[in-house]
Amino acid sequence: MDTQALLEAWEAGHRLSPQGWALALLALARPDQEHEALAALSVGQRDARLIALRNALFGSALSVVERCPQCQEELEVEMDAQPLVLPPSPAAQERHELQAEGCMLGFRLPSAGDLLAASACGDVDAAQRLLLGRCVLAASMNGVAIAPAALPQAALAALSDRMGELDPQADLRLRLHCPCCRHDWPVAFDMLPFLWREIDAWARRLLHQVHELAAAYGWAERDILAMSPTRRQAYLSMSVA
Ligand SMILES: [Zn+2]
Repeated sequence: MDTQALLEAWEAGHRLSPQGWALALLALARPDQEHEALAALSVGQRDARLIALRNALFGSALSVVERCPQCQEELEVEMDAQPLVLPPSPAAQERHELQAEGCMLGFRLPSAGDLLAASACGDVDAAQRLLLGRCVLAASMNGVAIAPAALPQAALAALSDRMGELDPQADLRLRLHCPCCRHDWPVAFDMLPFLWREIDAWARRLLHQVHELAAAYGWAERDILAMSPTRRQAYLSMSVA
């Protein structure tokens, strides 16, 4: 992904929802892929691509800041992001069956497009109804067909658990260890906001460099962006000196 495409992705992040931005970013990274093909990825497949893209852009070293829930110490944990890409997730189109709480369900995993549609719903309940309507392909209770929205809470909880087991990449957990009190605990890790913060910081640093070089030499933005980071840095050190 070149500098110009990544800057476009940064701009897109200011007008799109996080779910929309994830798809726009992947589309800029893979211009050969249609929007429909990217939207059809399961959430785990999408997230694996986001992590791979992130590692290609910024390297695989990752720093996570979390507070220990036991001793309240703030920890900055350095880790390698490469192992965060798990074995391939199932496709969102694949059908799965679940028997729980007297209910029989035929379902598929949520796709990136499903999350995008759900993010446009006004509230959490509406988003959940939309996801159920899309992902539950057949539902019956004690042998009688029912609407997905009529499923009992316990069956919905079993469905959510099963989806998490089938697609652990979509529900990534990091195991953290506190060196102060030796507490071990799992934290949910969402690559999307993390990657947004990294790209936002990168873009602001880069635009600051463009500003400094344009002010010092009168060069055009496109010419400054076309330089390698090494060359930009070399000119910056001269203009400051
Ligand atoms: Zn602790």
